Amino acid sequence: MLNLRGAKRVVILGGGTAGWFAALSLRKIFSVAVEIRVIESSQIGVVGVGEGGLLNLQAALHSIDIDTNDFVCETGATYKWGFSYEGWRTGAKDDRYFHPFASAEGLASKWEKSGGFPLISAMIHNGIEMPDYLRGMELIKNNASQQEAKQALDDKQVDIISSFHFDSYKIAEFFKKTALARNIVHQDAIVDDVQTNEQGRVVAVVTREGERIELDLVVDASGLSRKIIGKVVPSRWQSFGEHLLMDRAIPFYMPHPEKNPGLVSRAIALSSGWMWQIPLVNRVGAGYVYSSKHVSDEDAAAEIESHLGYAVKPQRVIRFEPGCYEQVWVGNVLSVGLASGFVEPLEATSIGQMIESVRNFVRVLTLSQGIVSDSAVREFNMSNHQSWIEVRDFLRMHYDCPRRDTPFWRDVAATPLPDAYRALKECMQLRAPRLLDLEGYTLHGRRGIFHVINWMFVATGLGLIPRDAVKTELMALPNEGKQAVGEFLAWLQQRKTAATAAAAT
Ligand SMILES: Cc1cc2nc3c(=O)[nH]c(=O)nc-3n(C[C@H](O)[C@H](O)[C@H](O)COP(=O)(O)OP(=O)(O)OC[C@H]3O[C@@H](n4cnc5c(N)ncnc54)[C@H](O)[C@@H]3O)c2cc1C
Repeated sequence: MLNLRGAKRVVILGGGTAGWFAALSLRKIFSVAVEIRVIESSQIGVVGVGEGGLLNLQAALHSIDIDTNDFVCETGATYKWGFSYEGWRTGAKDDRYFHPFASAEGLASKWEKSGGFPLISAMIHNGIEMPDYLRGMELIKNNASQQEAKQALDDKQVDIISSFHFDSYKIAEFFKKTALARNIVHQDAIVDDVQTNEQGRVVAVVTREGERIELDLVVDASGLSRKIIGKVVPSRWQSFGEHLLMDRAIPFYMPHPEKNPGLVSRAIALSSGWMWQIPLVNRVGAGYVYSSKHVSDEDAAAEIESHLGYAVKPQRVIRFEPGCYEQVWVGNVLSVGLASGFVEPLEATSIGQMIESVRNFVRVLTLSQGIVSDSAVREFNMSNHQSWIEVRDFLRMHYDCPRRDTPFWRDVAATPLPDAYRALKECMQLRAPRLLDLEGYTLHGRRGIFHVINWMFVATGLGLIPRDAVKTELMALPNEGKQAVGEFLAWLQQRKTAATAAAAT
């Protein structure tokens, strides 16, 4: 049991996106008598990458009473409507598929039947690209400006929900500024020691200057240095290296390749991994994430330049092992953000996962009224772990692609599939995936980070659902269902004809 009644101080170790977000969230639930203190080191700094949000970003900002417009102004944010995957199938110049952030209001995803989506199945059966049903895709493809995107969103002319791209340094600064205005204490110091009592509870942290800061609850948001969980308090590390090969990244900045900042994050396949390009207002945050078994750091840096055709200034090499801690809440320690695990930058899952973890932590603390049972903590950890497993499997699916042209892509193809994804893939040979298939990734009906529609955008983009697989479910529709499918396909055809005519004028 964790007794937080009478708690005097909560320490957050780390002032990156995760640390400040946790501090702002906890400030809302602890009384003013409890000090919330963020200890971070300007000498160590933040990781300085992580510039793309997921669909839970807007709700997360609202949950800490941050106005979206303020967020956009202060962090140099641009609209993010999803992802563009380039070169993941054939490697040819025009090889591209999209994973857009589809709104549940879009026609095809609105019509759910027993957890399946017959209109999407009809698209698969007719060889139609899944994003074609979404209003707003033409803005992505035509490199619309931010103003055009805003107008379309305001006018509800798109079936896409927006998240944001943002500057990773500015987001931490903005959260910090907001936190300081809300009575959160900030201390710039390096923590060298973490002290525990006989029960293994953390009782204090000690700075390099020798200051001992007592605490009742500590959030380990120390990034990849992972100061507490797994070191001071025990937790099992689960490596995902058996299934996912990425373990290095070289970040750099580049100018916009097009007139306007794109509305999607780009993931461009290269010889031994892929390059992210995240368009902000004044620059693109980019990086090559790769497998160190297949390319050296020097050759990776050279490949960036040969791909872009100009010189760039690589910031540094970031090393990581894909994986997570199985228990992120141990005793009076919660670990969040990179301190709790990291899979890789694909699909920008890290901040989204951190937000869910903090949200669930706040929920458990609130419902517990200061007395947290061991079973609540156990359940939290199981749920959090399942979420990591979902990320692992979802990302593994992205590499279930047809490229075989370099040693890396051939090794990717030979890399084992996790059991749960393998089982899902088997089902996808015979029918489209449905909500039920993903329930194992969540506990007690809580939603995972990705909806089955997100899985389907990637699965169909990679051709992982055979056209014939959905035939039986379409045949089984009642007559009115079949009629609705026919009308939908006719509507899609009309839109296509109109778009072709508009492009020709
Ligand atoms: C290559 C790469 C690409 C990524 N891309 C994305 C993306 O597109 N989308 C996404 O959601 N996420 C992405 N991420 C993850 C994202 O960067 C992080 O989830 C996010 O920035 C939060 O980081 P953090 O706060 O956990 O750690 P950090 O930003 O590293 O902060 C750690 C903090 O701990 C402090 N600290 C560490 N040790 C000590 C100590 N001993 N004493 C005092 N302070 C200490 C540091 O000073 C710092 O303030 C990416 C990560 C990598 C590596």
